[in-house]
Parts: sequence; C-alpha cells; structure tokens
Amino acid sequence: MNENRADGMLSPEELEPIIEKRTDELRRSSSPKEDIMINFPVLLGRNDRKRYEDCPRFILWEFIEPHRSQVLKNHSRSLERLVKLGGLLPDEIMAVIEDREWKPMIMRDAIDQLKQAVMLKEDVMNAKEGFNLMSYRCKAGHVEFIWNSRGGITPFMVNCRECGLISEHVDWHSDLYVPLHQPKKGDRIFIDLTLEKAKEYRREYVEKYWDDDMKKMFDTKEDAIQRLAKNDFERFAPHTPDLVTVT
Ligand SMILES: [Zn+2]
Repeated sequence: MNENRADGMLSPEELEPIIEKRTDELRRSSSPKEDIMINFPVLLGRNDRKRYEDCPRFILWEFIEPHRSQVLKNHSRSLERLVKLGGLLPDEIMAVIEDREWKPMIMRDAIDQLKQAVMLKEDVMNAKEGFNLMSYRCKAGHVEFIWNSRGGITPFMVNCRECGLISEHVDWHSDLYVPLHQPKKGDRIFIDLTLEKAKEYRREYVEKYWDDDMKKMFDTKEDAIQRLAKNDFERFAPHTPDLVTVT
C-alpha cells in the first residue's frame, strides 16, 4: 500500500470540506464529453474469434487512451471512430500501446502479448486505484464520490444514482487515497464482485432479454446465467469490481 501518501491520513473532519469544495468545483466545470467509453474493442474475424477463444474481447479504455497520438499516426482515425468501426486487431493494439509503427505479428503471439500487457496494466491499476475516493459526474451534472474499498480496479463509468445517466470518473489526478475512510449509510462503494452476486445480476438480465436474442444463443436460461456470470466474475478476478450501497 502507498502508505507514504500524505492524504491517506485524513480524518473524516478533514476530508469533509475537501469533498465539499471539489463537488462544488466539479459541478461548475464543463460537462463530460458526449461519447464516453469504458472499453475498447479487440477486433478479430469470426473464424479467429472461434480459434482464439482466450483473446480478450475488450481492453479497458484507460489502456489505450494514453496512446491516442500513436493511434492517429498508425490508423489516421480517432479512438472513438475506431470503436464505431469495431476496434483494432491484437497486433495493431500492441503497436499502438508500444508507441511504434505497426508490423505484422503471428496472431498467437500478438494475443499472448496483448494478454500479458493487459495483465501488467491491471496490476498497476489495482495498486494505483486501491482505497481511493473518486469523483464521478454525469451529463446532468450530478457529482458523487465513490470509495474503492479494496486494492482493485474500478470502472470508468457507472450509472448516476440520481438520474440513471452515465456518470464518468472525472478529475482522476485528484483521487484521494484514504484507506481508513468510513463510508456512511447510503454511500456507494466498490467491493470485489462475488460469483453469487454476478449470478444474481445476470439472472435479472437474462429474464429481461431472454426473448430478444438470448434464447438463440443459449440452451436454457440457467445455462445463460451460469456462463455469463462466470465470464463477468473472471473478467478481473479476484478483484472484479462491484458497486454497492452501504446499508
Ligand atoms: Zn445524474
């Protein structure tokens, strides 16, 4: 843990005015971008997708965001535009995140390197985002401070608890490291997702969308719930984030 970080020792009395001031500042500053992204898609042809089942479907937006200019150099398109076009191939992503020109790679190598890069990055982010109090702001301007109660990554976006719109993690550089923070009743915090909880979420989801497309993809509802929940749970296991309200 980053115990040398001075803000870790803030008492609730000291923290309160800081949060108040920042809430006020965030409300008054400009609203978030129109297109907020959480994941960047990893592109694979249908056959390759079957062949390389272990290839990630997405990487976190934060992985690729710092390499915007390389993306533009290699592909003459913005990240947002590329999302609409289906993302980038594994070897294209590797070139971008290593800030170099694209060169062809063997698909298996590209995927393995991508997986490794993603894992390393997640380790760094687990350490960086652990026990931080983070500000989220929705397009309607609602501001919420959400505490990360463990050493694990957190989502870039959540749903605003006041209006349900997407709320983006803003002002990243001012995240407060407060390992001893005591969240109040009604506060939302990040904890580790459990497999049981993942199933509960997926049960609702499957009930809702079963008749649309899902019944074509899965044998039974239970099968859909099990498989989707397992996927969710393993996404960043053992520290896949879950957002809960303190009771
Ligand atoms: Zn809102």
